[in-house]
Amino acid sequence: MARAEMGARAVLRELAGADCPTCEAGTLVRERYKGNRAVVCDECETPRAQVWR
Ligand SMILES: [Zn+2]
Repeated sequence: MARAEMGARAVLRELAGADCPTCEAGTLVRERYKGNRAVVCDECETPRAQVWR
């Protein structure tokens, strides 16, 4: 359980700052999405990953 949570956090950390693969203009930023921690594009707001808890 703890290991899975750490893995999810690592995914968020790795995705943050990457180029958005959907609109190619935006950058992925760490945000909250529907109450979950997530990585979301700052242009098109497409969530790329989120951590459910
Ligand atoms: Zn985008």
